[in-house]
Amino acid sequence: MTETRDTVILGSGCAGLTAAIYTARAGLKPLVFEGHEPGGQLSITSLVENFPGWPDGIQGPELIENMKKQAARFGAEFKLAHLHRVELGAHPFKLHTSAGEVHTRTLIVASGASARWLGLPSEQALIGHGVSSCATCDGFFFRGKEIAVVGGGDSAMEEALFLTRFATKVTLLHRREAFRASKIMLERAIAHPNIALRTNTVVEEVLGVEEKDVKGLKLRDVVTGQHDTLPVSGLFLGIGHEPNAKMFHGQIDLDDEGYIKTRDNVLTTHQGAVVPGVYACGDVQDRRYRQAITAAGSGCMAALEAEKFLEAHGH
Ligand code: NAP
Repeated sequence: MTETRDTVILGSGCAGLTAAIYTARAGLKPLVFEGHEPGGQLSITSLVENFPGWPDGIQGPELIENMKKQAARFGAEFKLAHLHRVELGAHPFKLHTSAGEVHTRTLIVASGASARWLGLPSEQALIGHGVSSCATCDGFFFRGKEIAVVGGGDSAMEEALFLTRFATKVTLLHRREAFRASKIMLERAIAHPNIALRTNTVVEEVLGVEEKDVKGLKLRDVVTGQHDTLPVSGLFLGIGHEPNAKMFHGQIDLDDEGYIKTRDNVLTTHQGAVVPGVYACGDVQDRRYRQAITAAGSGCMAALEAEKFLEAHGH
């Protein structure tokens, strides 16, 4: 017999773990599928300075570990499994996972967003050989070297600043003149003596595919059209994220960039009508705020909606 759960949570980032804390405290024994990036984006970040309650900041992985312990203390269960397919047409919902089939009365989608790549064949060939999307994971390997970071948002600034701990020089490459980053992060990057900013510049090729090691970047100035080569040993991408919602295509409404559309904060829809029992929270449905605290807040809302739904249906 396939077991039927009250609540399954997809994703173990800030949103999923907050939903787990709330549903576990409500006695719903949530099952959390940790997904392919357990802990979500906070688990690969460094110091989090803007999560309320931590006046001196807290390391992202520690914050996530604390949330997981808190959820487990109230009875949340965690499983490392990959979700192949969902069936939301009938109730309870069916989830086909690498750990077998699970049925659930409510589903909280907190599957987040994954790092975006430039998509160049040379970049893809050198992932793990000098190309990375995670400064905190891989920065250590670039001690004493020169590297480049691509992007103009807060992630790129944060990566560039973090990487100055290891690299002797960080060149920040941005495709436009204006930056998307917050003023405080941009000012920190500009003020850093080991960070050089280059705007209106795109990467056309990562050099070193034959050597299986990044040797440099072929760059193009988008204003003048001129090419040049930047000799670096590493390339870090800080160009944003893609929502992990493809498996819901055709069953819940997604926007044109693939984010889950929500109504009244966390309710999902299919062809405009609310899908009862399926809630979305965190970065998979948030293209605007995308903060740890807003993800946690929406995880709480999703959990409260799931509780209300179950109560209304006699569970
Ligand atoms: P983002 O704000 O969407 O910025 C992505 C950047 O990458 C943009 O500058 C974009 O250029 C550039 N980009 C996108 N695709 C590109 C491509 N194919 N080639 C070259 N450049 C490309 O993403 P984010 O920096 O990851 O930030 C996401 C959210 O998290 C934001 O709300 C941010 O405030 C927050 N965040 C906060 C902190 C912090 O406060 N410590 C740290 C990290 C993230 P265009 O500008 O030209 O589009």
